[in-house]
Amino acid sequence: MTKRDYYDVLGVAKNASEEELKKAYRRCAMKYHPDRNPGDKGAEAAFKECKEAYEVLSDGGKRRLYDQHGHSAFEQGMGGGNPGPGFADMGDIFGDIFGNIFGGGGGRQRGPRRGADVGYVLELDLEEAVAGVEKQIHVPTLAQCGRCKGSGSEDGVIETCSTCQGRGQVRMQRGPFVMQTPCPQCNGAGKSVANPCHECHGHGRVQEDKTLAVKIPAGVDVGDRIRLAGEGEAGPTGAPPGDLYVEVRVRPHAIFERDGDDLHCEVPIRISQAALGDAIRVPTLGGAAELRIPAETQTGKVFRLREKGVKSVRSRQPGDLYCKVVVETPVNLTGEQRELLERFETTFVGDGARRHSPKSSTFLDGVKGFWDRMVS
Ligand SMILES: [Zn+2]
Ligand SMILES: [Zn+2]
Repeated sequence: MTKRDYYDVLGVAKNASEEELKKAYRRCAMKYHPDRNPGDKGAEAAFKECKEAYEVLSDGGKRRLYDQHGHSAFEQGMGGGNPGPGFADMGDIFGDIFGNIFGGGGGRQRGPRRGADVGYVLELDLEEAVAGVEKQIHVPTLAQCGRCKGSGSEDGVIETCSTCQGRGQVRMQRGPFVMQTPCPQCNGAGKSVANPCHECHGHGRVQEDKTLAVKIPAGVDVGDRIRLAGEGEAGPTGAPPGDLYVEVRVRPHAIFERDGDDLHCEVPIRISQAALGDAIRVPTLGGAAELRIPAETQTGKVFRLREKGVKSVRSRQPGDLYCKVVVETPVNLTGEQRELLERFETTFVGDGARRHSPKSSTFLDGVKGFWDRMVS
């Protein structure tokens, strides 16, 4: 589907002022807001389109980008890295509309028509987060009652709500606006039940542990959320369900620490390897890799292995792996090793100390200067 021009969507000129944009968006919201068009998919889509257009055009920076590059200016951020099915950007599509348009500040007014959204925290190993995985999760939630199929009625007899005459909505004055709001008597269902279901006591919903398979796209990181549309709480008395948001946490890894797309690890090497140089094997998430340690490598030196990091859901290219080598002091010395090291040590006397231990000699020079200043 090709996207319509944002200015056309809002019905404003290219040079529309901030005030004109706001007005156009308000007009659009009054017409298409889902609370005013329950169940109308066309209105919902139109509303989303307007909201998206307004979000871009009301932001100076984004508007400039859009004016220069059109829709392609935002394509990377939205679809980059092919996050896979079920993954969605989590900006709440409806949440801020009343705050913006009606200045109410009273929070969401969506009413109980739709089931509540449910959050779920999913802990993954680093390998799973990087490679992607399918997980079975058990979510305690309110599900549609099987006995009455969500109607809330034991005998299937359902009457029209007398408060709203079956419309499910009542009109209410809210500041300067007259608003439709869900009927408090029937929670927007428009119906009432004389003989409530024995299982759900007329609510149409029961507490249940839902088992779901969640597809986690490769490259997710701590805090990423995956939306499973319609897998939240069932709506009251047969109304549409809410969504389930699965939030990713990642357990600490024994070797790697992740920082965005990059990975960091520490690799111990022997004093002789550090001095003479060597080729060593280092771990990466894709198996072992070779790392060449040049001669005279100091402890703490960090080597970068390009593209051995993580490819996140948003990035096109994997990050890097940073290996910090740490020179390890040998322990449990054999007689031979001790002898060799003792002989080795004798070579550091006199001029040898300065030549072969640049850091120590600089340090000693500094200490000497320090003492000299102390006594002078
Ligand atoms: Zn029931
Ligand atoms: Zn009612």
